[in-house]
Amino acid sequence: MFEGEFCAGWYWVIYSDANGKFHRALVGDKGEIILSAGAIGSPQLLLLSGVGSESYLSSLNIPVIHSQPNVGEFMADNPRNNINLVIQFPFSPSPAQVVRIMTSTEVSIATIAEKTTGPLSHGSLRLSSPKEAKATPLVRFNYFSDPADLSRCVKGVRKLGDMMNTNSMDRFKYTGFNGERGFMFLGPALPSNWSDDSSVEDYCRSTVTTFWHYHGGCLVGKVVDGDFRVMGINSLRVVDGSTFIILPGTNPQATLMMLGRYMGLKMLRERRESQ
Ligand SMILES: Cc1cc2nc3c(=O)[nH]c(=O)nc-3n(C[C@H](O)[C@H](O)[C@H](O)COP(=O)(O)OP(=O)(O)OC[C@H]3O[C@@H](n4cnc5c(N)ncnc54)[C@H](O)[C@@H]3O)c2cc1C
Repeated sequence: MFEGEFCAGWYWVIYSDANGKFHRALVGDKGEIILSAGAIGSPQLLLLSGVGSESYLSSLNIPVIHSQPNVGEFMADNPRNNINLVIQFPFSPSPAQVVRIMTSTEVSIATIAEKTTGPLSHGSLRLSSPKEAKATPLVRFNYFSDPADLSRCVKGVRKLGDMMNTNSMDRFKYTGFNGERGFMFLGPALPSNWSDDSSVEDYCRSTVTTFWHYHGGCLVGKVVDGDFRVMGINSLRVVDGSTFIILPGTNPQATLMMLGRYMGLKMLRERRESQ
């Protein structure tokens, strides 16, 4: 958390170490803070530090350090709708991988997920405690509140259904007592009535879960400028997924790592040039 006079060029950063002991670091007029606590942590810490909507902060008796109505707004996440198939033979999955961190394991459950990338629906983050940084904030992504997202999900689920009907998927089916072949689902099965939009929409809404691709809360152009500086505060930058207006088409981690590298090099260059 931050405390002090951003505009006067000095302030304290208050932080706790691994043992829970609190410390204060004084940041002078040439210093700068980089906040990288992620899409949940960064807006939360800004709000706790008094950077946010005046009326909202005042309602929680948090002193307003800098009025910025968009902190904690435009929270979004890629909705995920998946099916889990129980399969009767060892199966080598190919999980989503980033820089080859994950290794493959044999499983008897196969998950097939449908992802609605770049959602237009968004929600907000609110504090659950006006003082405690460790208190998990309240976040709503409002999945499918934008009809365009819902209609993309319907198309995606239908595509999933088409794929399940192909001959290649036959080996994942079981033969029932009556001799009929069918899939065994763990959790919800795909909707049976494909032609009816509203039943596929219900399926999208009732089975939606997170892809853990949260972003927003400190958007570029709304909270930070193109150099990731909190607008109106020169000495504070936010560099993480909270600044993303929209996610890349794929999983975000590699892009976020590159953002960190890009900003690190850029700031180093800026510092050298100013010396
Ligand atoms: C379960 C899961 C699986 C995922 N799988 C993939 C995948 O396969 N591929 C992919 O590309 N992406 C994946 N992601 C998404 C990816 O991890 C995130 O998009 C990315 O890490 C976000 O980066 P970030 O820098 O914005 O925030 P983060 O990586 O979340 O970094 C924020 C850091 O700040 C710390 N922090 C927060 N609040 C505080 C505080 N108050 N005090 C001190 N520290 C604090 C957090 O502990 C964390 O270390 C996955 C995410 C999850 C949760």
